[in-house]
Amino acid sequence: MSETVFVTGGAGYIGSQCCKLLAANGYRPVTYDNMSSGRPEFVRYGPLVEGDILDGFRLDAALQEYRPKTVLHFAALIEVEESTREPILYYDVNACGTLALVEKCKEHGVEHFIFSSTAAVYGEPSVSPVKLSTPTTPINPYGWSKLMGERFLQDCAVDAGMGVTIFRYFNASGSDPDAELGVRFEGASHLIPRLISAAAEGTPFSIFGTDYDTADGTCVRDYIHVLDVANAHLAAMKSPVDAGHVRTFNIGVGRGYSVREVLESVERITETKIDLQLKDQRAGDASELVAGDIDEVVNMLGWHAEFTEIDDIVFHAWRWYCADG
Ligand code: UDP
Repeated sequence: MSETVFVTGGAGYIGSQCCKLLAANGYRPVTYDNMSSGRPEFVRYGPLVEGDILDGFRLDAALQEYRPKTVLHFAALIEVEESTREPILYYDVNACGTLALVEKCKEHGVEHFIFSSTAAVYGEPSVSPVKLSTPTTPINPYGWSKLMGERFLQDCAVDAGMGVTIFRYFNASGSDPDAELGVRFEGASHLIPRLISAAAEGTPFSIFGTDYDTADGTCVRDYIHVLDVANAHLAAMKSPVDAGHVRTFNIGVGRGYSVREVLESVERITETKIDLQLKDQRAGDASELVAGDIDEVVNMLGWHAEFTEIDDIVFHAWRWYCADG
């Protein structure tokens, strides 16, 4: 009998990729998703329970029915700029939602909780690459809401009797190499889907800020392939953590690309010249976020990024755009 894994947000971009990987490795992923942004056709690797993480009755029933030992918590709101306009919503879903889930996990005897955190917890770090010891001072409600989730887990792990793995993802990007799953293009706010849409549709692309203190004046990010992110979860499950203990990792490649470098990659892969508009900086954006301390996750979990070239990441996203029609 395959081990059941409870995956909140399993119908979403990263969650669905993780469910696919889990199923391929003999686990049974149970998706718990309110389908606010998830796609029903992405839930094809195990059962779906439609529910909200803030709905205690629904969560109780689902955890009672499936009795998972491991919970992967992806369900969240993830748009930095939106979080500056809708902070209450972000604190409710990301912070309160995580606490509500932790409480239910305690009641239902969950042993390992894997939390999707973010590089945004570092705010505008004074060092690059960012070490795990770099102070966490977020500069937007999204980063704060995720840091609160981390804090709840730090403080509650012993009480809940769970081992906790916290992954601070840098910029999850790319799409399933088999082009069965992928990022959402419609209404996307993230860089690579926006660039691909602009290339495919011939619409202008806006660079938010060309006066950052970086080599070419545009923001620098560490783009980590979504399959590599999923693989980190599998590695964590194969190397569990003792009850009451919390371990935190940066999940990135350890190399940064500027917005202009990503733009050039998209132009190469799509063989299209993109029409540019230079705009002011976007609210809440840090100038540079590149993952450091990657050796921690290599040494402790045996994980490393497979897709280290931006062109491979962009190519998979582009192929998904073409497949998703
Ligand atoms: N960006 C941009 N134009 C866009 C979308 C994003 O210039 O249409 C920039 C954004 O300002 C940031 C970088 O691309 O510097 C990565 O943004 P994204 O939203 O992909 O990820 P974030 O790091 O904000 O989570």
